[in-house]
Amino acid sequence: MSTEHLTVAGIDIDLIRKDIKNIHLAVYPPSGRVRIAAPEQMDANAIRLFAISKIPWIKKHQRKFAEQHRETPREYVNGESHYFMGRRYLLNIIEHTGNNKVVIRNRKYMDLYVKYGATRDQKERAVWEWYRRELKSTVPDLVAKWEGVIGVKCSYWGVKYMRTKWGTCNTTAKRIWLNLELAKKPVECLEYIIVHELVHLHERNHTERFVSLMDRFMPNWRLNREVLNSLPVGHEKWGY
Ligand SMILES: [Zn+2]
Repeated sequence: MSTEHLTVAGIDIDLIRKDIKNIHLAVYPPSGRVRIAAPEQMDANAIRLFAISKIPWIKKHQRKFAEQHRETPREYVNGESHYFMGRRYLLNIIEHTGNNKVVIRNRKYMDLYVKYGATRDQKERAVWEWYRRELKSTVPDLVAKWEGVIGVKCSYWGVKYMRTKWGTCNTTAKRIWLNLELAKKPVECLEYIIVHELVHLHERNHTERFVSLMDRFMPNWRLNREVLNSLPVGHEKWGY
């Protein structure tokens, strides 16, 4: 049994060759990963044509999983679940006269200090400002580490909220943007996105060369991608 990877209409597919008679295709929750099991001797072109014929079916199922898996809107009330660096915390709101701040307590609570009578939106903003500060203090060491490993240098990196992308890389300006949402995810997901964007400084497009560079620098990148895609998401479609 061997695993290959193919991409059809922008969809990544794991292809397993097995001692079976008929070709099978399945889409798995929660991330909508696609797997084809094909007979050992089946022609690559026939497999590709089979995959193409199934695209509407694949997309329908991926959409369904994405909807089931979507994060419900946060109300910013006591006891609500909020995530930081891959861990779940219970929100605890403390009204006070000082500046807004967030303090993680007992590995269980996210204490959110806000002004008396703060609105939902003000609480949300306070949490996201904290996410931004935390990311900005975590990212420099990771970027420096991976620039060394990959042998590139970015001229600038920043953090911002993006609706549909985990990260972006402008290869001409060597500028990288990371999604603020990554503050909620395990640090290896953040690291994976940093590696992905830095590898773009060697290879602009998602070519085979790009994939082989990813394999060389971060052999477990597929696992990190799987972790990232299996977590609740704020939006339906993500790219990077
Ligand atoms: Zn990319």
